[in-house]
Amino acid sequence: MNMDDQNAIWLPSSNFDAGRNGAPIDRIILHTTEGRFDGALSWLRGEAAGSSNRDSSSHYLVSADGSRIAQLVREADTAWAAGNLAFNRRGINIEQEGYAGAPSGSGEFSDALYAATGALVGRVARRHSIPLDRQHVIGHMDVPDPNNPALHGGIDHHDDPGKAYDFERLLRIANGVNDERLSCRYFEETHHRVCDRFRAFWESYGESALLTFGYPLSEAFRDADDVLVQYFERARFEWRPGSGQNRWDVLLGRVGDEASGPARQVNAASFAPTLP
Ligand SMILES: [Zn+2]
Repeated sequence: MNMDDQNAIWLPSSNFDAGRNGAPIDRIILHTTEGRFDGALSWLRGEAAGSSNRDSSSHYLVSADGSRIAQLVREADTAWAAGNLAFNRRGINIEQEGYAGAPSGSGEFSDALYAATGALVGRVARRHSIPLDRQHVIGHMDVPDPNNPALHGGIDHHDDPGKAYDFERLLRIANGVNDERLSCRYFEETHHRVCDRFRAFWESYGESALLTFGYPLSEAFRDADDVLVQYFERARFEWRPGSGQNRWDVLLGRVGDEASGPARQVNAASFAPTLP
């Protein structure tokens, strides 16, 4: 079973805060466990796994060989990982099996770990429209101390994932999965695709999506106000980043065939049937 991520196993932790207290999700924060996968997993799951830990958790835990990804906390909820409440609320935290103290170039982090974490970071970034750069993909060591912003590593000055960790390599891998064509769903019925956040939103309605929205009548395109929109048989999707209406930032407009008429004239190419 998986919760937010297709490649993760859902092994919930009891250590989290529901929701984000209104904060936008705009950081991905990487860690190392400083211990083995199985021990870290039961520790971070807290009471849910019978451990005594009531203070820390993480959204994800990736094994050193990249073969296992556990999700412990829903992306919509706040994990306790960064030693800084504001950064926990805005961040998706990813623990990796490994050690921060490794000297640079020692080969401490395997190719498979970078591949697994990089792909996970790419998927998380796509779900929340987080830019894939060093300002938004950070280490625990980059998180300010809430009591003294001149210091870093959160309140306890952690230094993970450490100097040996190659963020540039990680970002190259993450960017590689940031490809729109990978996440489209094609509808034979109307010869249009639904991609990315619009697809996630459409599919979040499950079996009632067709009844609620109908099939796509166009591709996604930018309207005269530079808003990304897409027309469906019974709805117009608008991407409004930061609107907070739902986790996909999709707003609904009502349409009928007559309402889509002007948009059809101005954006004829987007309404023309397309190939998958
Ligand atoms: Zn950490």
